[in-house]
Amino acid sequence: MVARKFKDLDDFVPTISDSENEVPDLEDSDDEVVKQTKVLPHKAKKTKKNQSKQQHDVKGELVDEDVHEDLNPGFEFELDGSEVTSNFDGWNFEGDKRANEGTKDVDLDGIIRRKGGLVQLVGTEDSASDVGSEDNDTENEGSDESDDDNLAMDGFGMGTSAVGEDASDGNDGSSDVEEEVEESELSAAEAADQKLEVEEEDSDDAKAAFYAPDEESSEARNTVHSSFNSLSLSRPVLKGVGALNYVKPSPIQSAAIPIALLGKDIIAGAVTGSGKTAAYMIPIIERLLYKPAQVASTRVIVLTPTRELAIQVSDVGTKLAKFVSTINFGLAVGGLNLRQQEQNLRSRPDVVIATPGRLIDHIRNSASFNVESVEILVIDEADRMLEEGFQDELNEIMSLIPSKRQTLLFSATMNAKINQLISLSLKKPIKIMIDPPRQAAAKLTQEFVRIRKREDLKPALLFHLIKRLDDQAQKRIVVFVARKEMAHKLRIILGLLGMKVAELHGSLSQEQRLQSVNGFKSLEIPVLICTDLASRGLDIPKIEFVINFDMPKSYEIYLHRVGRTARAGREGRSVTFVGESSQDRNVVKSAIKSAEENNKQDTVVGRMIDWSRVEEINNFISNKDDTIIEILEEEKQEKEILRAEMEVRKGENMLKHKDEISARPKRTWFQSEAEKKNSKVINALSKTKKTINSKKRKRLEATEDRARSYKKTKNDRSTDQQRTYAKQRAKVDAKKKKKRART
Ligand code: AMP
Repeated sequence: MVARKFKDLDDFVPTISDSENEVPDLEDSDDEVVKQTKVLPHKAKKTKKNQSKQQHDVKGELVDEDVHEDLNPGFEFELDGSEVTSNFDGWNFEGDKRANEGTKDVDLDGIIRRKGGLVQLVGTEDSASDVGSEDNDTENEGSDESDDDNLAMDGFGMGTSAVGEDASDGNDGSSDVEEEVEESELSAAEAADQKLEVEEEDSDDAKAAFYAPDEESSEARNTVHSSFNSLSLSRPVLKGVGALNYVKPSPIQSAAIPIALLGKDIIAGAVTGSGKTAAYMIPIIERLLYKPAQVASTRVIVLTPTRELAIQVSDVGTKLAKFVSTINFGLAVGGLNLRQQEQNLRSRPDVVIATPGRLIDHIRNSASFNVESVEILVIDEADRMLEEGFQDELNEIMSLIPSKRQTLLFSATMNAKINQLISLSLKKPIKIMIDPPRQAAAKLTQEFVRIRKREDLKPALLFHLIKRLDDQAQKRIVVFVARKEMAHKLRIILGLLGMKVAELHGSLSQEQRLQSVNGFKSLEIPVLICTDLASRGLDIPKIEFVINFDMPKSYEIYLHRVGRTARAGREGRSVTFVGESSQDRNVVKSAIKSAEENNKQDTVVGRMIDWSRVEEINNFISNKDDTIIEILEEEKQEKEILRAEMEVRKGENMLKHKDEISARPKRTWFQSEAEKKNSKVINALSKTKKTINSKKRKRLEATEDRARSYKKTKNDRSTDQQRTYAKQRAKVDAKKKKKRART
């Protein structure tokens, strides 16, 4: 079976690590640096344009129809923040061209093509590739009609009556009974967990000591600003807001801007799509207007968990500050050219948007960049930052920036406990909680497909579905999967079926990520398969369909995913594959309940599937098992060759510029990759420890001790690439020779 075989190849995803962009490009003279001096207002426009090009090469173009359709002056934010206008063009970002010159990625599409994929299939195989095509669909029209049968409100037989799925499945209901039992057992365990959680909740006293008094936040929430004019903003800032066609502040903007302008610390609950970036960027720009004019120094740092979000934030900031000539922005993110960033940071941009690791790197190693004058720190997606192994890096940053500062924390959920927040040295923060969306967008149709015991048919089902959804004009379809390995597998499987799709997840190089997003945005590749991680902050206009290939862990994440479509009052459709776990079923139940409460029962439907056709496609996929393995192996080999070639180039550069390199101060690292992984393990363990009994706890503590006693390997310590140069050159040549001989 495909699934079993894939397990043996868990390192197939072509990853060119960040450091690979750091091949010293010493031909680059420092003289080429365009100094970012303060500019006169009449020159500001031109210089700003150049700046943003130098900094992150954001393309200024917008697809015309996006401009007109998305910039809706009458646009109103819903409290749930799920409606957005989108004139964001940050995804047009092309990466750092110079940085990418030296690096190449494996051409997976080329490999798939060589193996017979990405072409219209003919002959017997046609039956598989054609399933779901227009002809077949017409034939199947009758059943298609019934596809949209209303889903019984008990959600696949989760309650009393029968469900609106295909009768051929012969559901006798008995499995449901078993599952109810399983579910109730589970709920007992969950309840026990919850009890533990409750015990750990912050006490009222702790909250009173930590947060500002409630009155301060309720006042902020109750004063609703229906226009930006009442927010006491200066003219250039209002002009910037106007240029983005923002007419009315979103709820988070209305509540957060006045408090941030007062210099107070904030902990705000706001999800992507609620206008949170402008909620902190507007007061930052307003405050920077009054900075001392002569001294160039970095006064604001915005930390984000991902490069994409950093780029997006930088784009929004640059646009909002369009009419303020004295503010400049810098980026310090992994995956982009280190030297170029260094040069940019040398001019000490007022606002630096950074991912934590790269920021520490620059603070330690970039001459003349420092964070001694930081007055405002923003932590975006703070919940994620606190959870996902950034703790050590955050602590390090906290120790490096002045403690006398304003801290603004934006978080999608407010689950962080005070003891986690203490390390961020907030001073009596004001809590602003804008309710996250508890209901789907008004014009969203939510479809569910019950998978039952046909998990292995899911790739075939996905193909079948995309063919059907994407029948007429090209539509954008986002497919969510739980794991990046699956995203990659699906790209190959669908490729062999003749369908080109893009993937987006954490194991791709920056170049590959940008390619995926840009291709998707321009509709060149209308299907994007991604993980939740990569989808955060994804702000692409007009996504018609969201497919949940794997069910998300919670209804909140489900809402977040389906919120990618049916935005800004448009129509949209989501199709979710539902497995048999109680987790999957709970999400369906919540969707149905929410629709009922809002009198929108007819928007939740069960999709009937012609499983015989899906089986046919699956037969085709099964026949391609060996080809899939071959593709993965070839990809792995090419990746190794590329990696080795890069090492060789690095070595050659090192030799060529030996004197210059040895004259430079040595780079120091805050954590090696292995140390970072280890600290993630330790953090995860200590989190789990809190919720388990003492016996299990002891076992975990032993594991934790082992992790702590980890010593740096020779590799970690090594900074000198020359040693391996000759060896690698021989290896690459041998591999190339072998490959040539094979082909
Ligand atoms: P964010 O939550 O910052 O990712 O913003 C989501 C989207 O909302 C972006 O496309 C913004 O351009 C847009 N947006 C932010 N604030 C406003 C506003 N006040 N009015 C209209 N659109 C906005």
